[in-house]
Amino acid sequence: MTTTPLADRYGRVATDLRVSLTDRCNLRCNYCMPAEGLDWLPDDSVLTDDEVVRLITIGVERLGIREVRFTGGEPLVRRGLTGIVRRTRALGDGLELSITTNALGLARTAAALAEAGLDRVNVSLDTVRRDTFETITRRDRLHDVVAGLEAAQAAGLGPVKVNAVLLRGTNDDQAGELLAWCLERGYELRFIEQMPLDAQHGWSRTGMVTAEEIFDRLARDFTLTPASEPRGSAPAELFLVDGGPGTVGVIASVTRPFCGDCDRVRLTADGQVRNCLFAREESDLRAALRAGAGDEEVAGRWVAAMAGKRAGHGIDDPAFLQPDRPMSAIGG
Ligand code: SAM
Ligand code: SF4
Repeated sequence: MTTTPLADRYGRVATDLRVSLTDRCNLRCNYCMPAEGLDWLPDDSVLTDDEVVRLITIGVERLGIREVRFTGGEPLVRRGLTGIVRRTRALGDGLELSITTNALGLARTAAALAEAGLDRVNVSLDTVRRDTFETITRRDRLHDVVAGLEAAQAAGLGPVKVNAVLLRGTNDDQAGELLAWCLERGYELRFIEQMPLDAQHGWSRTGMVTAEEIFDRLARDFTLTPASEPRGSAPAELFLVDGGPGTVGVIASVTRPFCGDCDRVRLTADGQVRNCLFAREESDLRAALRAGAGDEEVAGRWVAAMAGKRAGHGIDDPAFLQPDRPMSAIGG
């Protein structure tokens, strides 16, 4: 079978597929969604397990996808997750498979996910203080996340990465504390700048804690030196902490965008291809699947969807418009 690369007009080729398995979540992080949750996708519009696996198969076998990350919403609330991982792994040992998760329930499922063929997890954790955790996520579940992280490491789903968003006035004074906690346990921490992708449209540039501020705060407690490996298409700028071997990453999506090196493409839980987190258009692969399209036709639609990928996210453009769907519905 010949492979058609998922190329765009700017010479970028997508090889990293982010698959959202649900838009639902059991936390309510205040920078992501409102306390009452969102209008979830109706069940019949969400891809079935078979449909998800079929689209991933087309991506891997025909379109050059080499890495698949499951996300959401919260991917662990998807009942068929382990089966989807197992069937994706059957596509090839060389495929890199990971999930981005809040880790609630991961203590119970980490071993099964590893056995099914998952390689790694990224766990989102913005604080190690119980009260701050509850303020941000609106749930008293820090203990579950900690247990989930431990289980992931014990199951060999490493290196375990931790993603954190700093929020002004809430946890921006805890960057050093979170880094020390992660270093002690061997987790690789990466801070991510907050992006205008919240359902409430509450993001503001002045409210966002910038990468520059994050460096300044960390520099009070640690010596950071750039890690030698080149950044490539990886969005995190990596630093050795106090000479290493521990590292910390900073993902400056807003202030130092890495769009020029982007190798990602996204599939929403309802089967829409998005060529960018910030895309304003989607391409409906679910409709094609359900209308009986063959693999070649579906692949053709997917290739066509990439052609419209814009050069950058344009957050600084005065005409910037936040996408209609929030991060939790796109797949972060
Ligand atoms: N529920 C899973 C989790 O939290 O890891 C997966 C989905 S979540 C949308 C993926 C990542 O997006 C999390 O690390 C979360 O902190 C991050 N995120 C959510 N809203 C964001 C925003 N407005 N700006 C930056 N990151 C955000
Ligand atoms: Fe849920 Fe992840 Fe959004 Fe938090 S960031 S509400 S865990 S989807």
